[in-house]
Amino acid sequence: PRLLIQLESAMGETRVAASPDTVKKFLSLGSKVAIERGAGLAAGFVDAVYGNVGAELVTPGDEQFWGQTDLLLCVHAPSEISLQKLRPGATIVGLLAPYSNSALAAALKSAKLSAMALELLPRISRAQSADALSSQANIAGYKAVLLAAAALDRYFPMLMTAAGTVQPARVVVLGAGVAGLQAVATAKRLGAVVYVSDVRSAVKEQVESLGARFIDPPEIEQRPDESGGYAKQASEAFLAAQREQLSNQLAQADVVICTAQVPGRKAPRLISDLMLDRMRPGAVVVDLAVEQGGNCANTRPGETVDRNGVKLIGASDLPCSVPNHASALYSRNLVALLEPVLKDGQLSLNIEDELIAGCLISHNGEIRHNNVFNMGG
Ligand code: NAD
Repeated sequence: PRLLIQLESAMGETRVAASPDTVKKFLSLGSKVAIERGAGLAAGFVDAVYGNVGAELVTPGDEQFWGQTDLLLCVHAPSEISLQKLRPGATIVGLLAPYSNSALAAALKSAKLSAMALELLPRISRAQSADALSSQANIAGYKAVLLAAAALDRYFPMLMTAAGTVQPARVVVLGAGVAGLQAVATAKRLGAVVYVSDVRSAVKEQVESLGARFIDPPEIEQRPDESGGYAKQASEAFLAAQREQLSNQLAQADVVICTAQVPGRKAPRLISDLMLDRMRPGAVVVDLAVEQGGNCANTRPGETVDRNGVKLIGASDLPCSVPNHASALYSRNLVALLEPVLKDGQLSLNIEDELIAGCLISHNGEIRHNNVFNMGG
């Protein structure tokens, strides 16, 4: 099969879907690999390195080339116009943002494409090495803490100096999924005292094993807990109780890292204006859920808002700020997913396989997982 790695066109995107190492791997599996010129540049992989490992370098968007491609590797879905350049039956793989994306469904259908959306990989142990959401969330959690530390008007660690002792920073992490747990670990390494809130009871032990303190969710009915490893959407009554509970914590916090999400839904609003009013000037909130509506009031994607001295950082694309490792890990996720699909020099999608079935949103233009495409925010 012919693989093509696209030059990402989304604004601010610095990642690439294949590193030179994974290109080598795909070649060894019997594929032909082409990469659009400049695709790896922002991630630190120059064209010549791809050429040296055996990839063909092609002009970005070349229609003839797209028309011959069997498998397109991408970070974001190509534009609808670009999708039309692919031949019917071709497959695309990437973080395709399928939730409520009826335009994508229409484009896949009309171009008769197959598509695997990494967001929908089932969270089973066999899928872990292919889990791009996790590899990227890990980076986001790490970088969020570094941003907060850089913006904070205090030290993170406790320090005993000749001029006296300073107390460690108090960090509150909302949501203890992949990003949240990495944020906890990073903040602990910097010496902060860390508190964590999550609705899934399973994470309490993980939080405590990292040396952080778990804030038990409010004891009211309709506690959301989880399904398939993800949190369920919380009721408004539950969120209100949770905000009340968090309000005192936040009044004492130096840093809040917001990572709480529910797949395909609006992020839970955990920090209100009233809660921000109680935070001290100089404190920092980093909101990783900002693109999904935000865990915190007033955060804006890609912006830092100063609200009475509290810095609100809307951190929308942190993996792009660590492009080399983000790309290297993402690329390996794709190899893990595709190696079984590319067996014996053929591209074959076994839709009986739980992994493929889970993330295949279109099969030769036949739309699957309609519920995902039609999901309301
Ligand atoms: P996510 O990004 O969907 O959500 C982040 C966190 O926010 C979750 O822990 C969720 O419980 C929490 N949350 C939701 N609503 C909240 C609220 N109102 N208040 C506080 N927290 C709230 O989740 P994720 O990081 O993608 O991972 C979810 C889980 O899946 C993790 O426990 C992870 O360990 C597990 N996982 C399993 C596999 C696998 O087995 N293959 C792979 C990756 C992750």
